[in-house]
Amino acid sequence: MTFAATSLKDVTFFPFWLDNPDAPPVEPQLIGRTSADLVIVGGGFTGLWAAIQAKEADPGRDVVLIEAGKVAYGASGRPGGIVSTSIMHGLHNAARLFPEDIGELERLGQENMQGLLGTLDLFGIDAHNTWGGELTVAVGDDQVENVRAEYELHAEHGHDVEFLDRDQVQAQVNSPLYAAGCWNRKLSGTVHPARLVWGLKRAALELGVRLHEFTPMESLERVNGAMEIKTHDGLVRAPKVLLCTNAFAAGHRKIKQRVAGIRDRIIATEPLSGEQLARIGWNSRQGVYDTRTQLNYTRMTKDNRIIFGGRLTYYHDGTNNTDPAAERVVDPYLRLAEAFHETFPQLDDIRFSHAWSGPIALTTRMAVHFQEYHQGDVIWAGGYSGFGISTSRFGARVGLAKLDRADLPELKLDFATTMPNRILPEPFRWIGSKITLYALDTADEKGGWRRPWLKLVDAMGFPLS
Ligand SMILES: Cc1cc2nc3c(=O)[nH]c(=O)nc-3n(C[C@H](O)[C@H](O)[C@H](O)COP(=O)(O)OP(=O)(O)OC[C@H]3O[C@@H](n4cnc5c(N)ncnc54)[C@H](O)[C@@H]3O)c2cc1C
Repeated sequence: MTFAATSLKDVTFFPFWLDNPDAPPVEPQLIGRTSADLVIVGGGFTGLWAAIQAKEADPGRDVVLIEAGKVAYGASGRPGGIVSTSIMHGLHNAARLFPEDIGELERLGQENMQGLLGTLDLFGIDAHNTWGGELTVAVGDDQVENVRAEYELHAEHGHDVEFLDRDQVQAQVNSPLYAAGCWNRKLSGTVHPARLVWGLKRAALELGVRLHEFTPMESLERVNGAMEIKTHDGLVRAPKVLLCTNAFAAGHRKIKQRVAGIRDRIIATEPLSGEQLARIGWNSRQGVYDTRTQLNYTRMTKDNRIIFGGRLTYYHDGTNNTDPAAERVVDPYLRLAEAFHETFPQLDDIRFSHAWSGPIALTTRMAVHFQEYHQGDVIWAGGYSGFGISTSRFGARVGLAKLDRADLPELKLDFATTMPNRILPEPFRWIGSKITLYALDTADEKGGWRRPWLKLVDAMGFPLS
């Protein structure tokens, strides 16, 4: 049997983060009619941060949060858990999109992270934070210059950053693939995402948010001047609604025009023994992104597992991009395990305990944006494109400020006043994504038409190449 087949033989298809006895009890579903000052739809990071910040700004505001399933069962209970200060999917992406505003976006990112830490402190949330920084690693010599450029950009903007040559990067994380690294130590690292969501849920409840789980929104319309949300067994009326439904809303006719719901995958190892740990080093426990065309990201957990992610797929049937049941398709995990083996061949005796996938709201911006409906009384905030753990707090704050028509200087910045490009409709979207994901998978190995294709996709607005 191959390494991939052996190592995945006894795997549990469920997120490691959610397989945890510390999960909080479920809040009751909404039954019957109610009203509120603000309704938040979606109980992931964005929805919970919105609820907390709305209550902190005005404790008297009556806030109802409804979640279709359990809190954290969307993307927020499923990520790699690498946390960054950037609110625009990294400095490089911010520079690509909004070069004029980059200084202000950097400042807002810092402020956002300080606010996040303040909430963790205030409510005593232990999300296993580890501030070892982020490490971007070059896979192969031809990527070294890209990593050096990343280092220079971060140094120019005052980050605490170090360029690592082959020996230095392998002394940090021992992979024979790593040819260089850019280690950014500026307030970034890793968290246990489910513990973070559950902590935010507790904080929201303590602040008086009325939270209903297993309460899917079934319709949303204006009735007699207020917004009316029908759920399976109830109805809630409010003047304002914040939609924090992430990739799930990619099934919505209008939101979908700019957002594609895609799936990404992760595998988690059994805890490493002391001797296995010694084979890889990784004493600083950075969150690591590599430069493979179909990128992999990896990190350690508190109990010494390796989390290894990155295997995108897109299904024509939109629900398969968000339905957790779709995570049992085995083939992509075999490919992910092979990539793990190439990265850490010295861990050929390791076994994987968990494998799972989750929905990503992908846009051409690769970062948060805001869609307004019903004359601005309904706002959708999202589109983090796989980079939303800390940014969701910022997305929630800006979404609320837009909803309340607040006079905030950041609402005048381009990120808040513009939208990402529209994406091709189906079936062209599906065809395009199939070709693109195949090109991403095989470009490093086979080259040929794949690189020009990825450049074309890049030119159309998706920064993939
Ligand atoms: C595999 C994977 C790896 C990732 N890795 C990282 C990482 O390392 N670092 C990082 O920063 N980001 C990462 N991300 C991205 C990050 O997880 C997301 O950006 C973030 O969780 C989005 O939070 P959210 O609250 O907007 O969405 P979600 O957590 O998806 O929440 C949306 C919620 O809305 C609910 N909902 C949907 N429709 C309805 C309805 N009709 N009625 C009521 N409720 C509804 C859903 O049930 C869901 O709970 C990753 C994502 C995935 C999938």
